[in-house]
Amino acid sequence: MAAFEGQCLAIEPDVDLDDIESTGPKAPERPSKDEVRQAVRTILSYIGENPNREGLQETPDRLVRSYGELYRGYQTEIKSIMKTFTDGAEQADEMVIQRNIPFFSMCEHHMLPFVGVAHIAYLPDKKIVGLSKMARLVEVFARRLQVQERMTAQISEALMTYLQPKGAACVIEATHLCMAQRGVSKSHSDTVTSSLRGVFKEAKTRSEFLNFITSDTRRHLI
Ligand SMILES: [Zn+2]
Repeated sequence: MAAFEGQCLAIEPDVDLDDIESTGPKAPERPSKDEVRQAVRTILSYIGENPNREGLQETPDRLVRSYGELYRGYQTEIKSIMKTFTDGAEQADEMVIQRNIPFFSMCEHHMLPFVGVAHIAYLPDKKIVGLSKMARLVEVFARRLQVQERMTAQISEALMTYLQPKGAACVIEATHLCMAQRGVSKSHSDTVTSSLRGVFKEAKTRSEFLNFITSDTRRHLI
């Protein structure tokens, strides 16, 4: 996870979950922000803290605002980012790979972060998608409560659905704080998941993809 050295989770307090119409799975009834702030105070008391202590007075509000950022993936429609185009795709019959896309997500079992990189690829069939959109796709699924296996499958499934390629693949390598922090596993162990669709199930395409993402010929040009 050397890629993450020096980085930290940036919280943008401007994103307000109440301001945007949710397109993700919805809770049956959405509590108010005040109710959430109160719930955080309850948790603080439960762990043995005094929620009125000076350093904690703003914590419930900070948490509510940070949720706007951490869980903003529920607010994005996948089809709005997967705009495909055919111009430039005429000769595109080789694999398109984007590797080492960094992400931060939250494990749905413990609501603790898992961080890592995603490698995604597709073999075009007359349609391509902007390269930045591939990273955006990872971001949208990461900014939800997740399990790594589901997130991996959702990414390759979205590529298959919106791009209709000959095949799509996603490999995610991540470290889960719920494991590292609680001593279940060694803190440096990574979890690797993969989802291969279409031609990526064939041995030749699969090994070409895996060779690309595991090769040491990484050149960071800028
Ligand atoms: Zn967990």
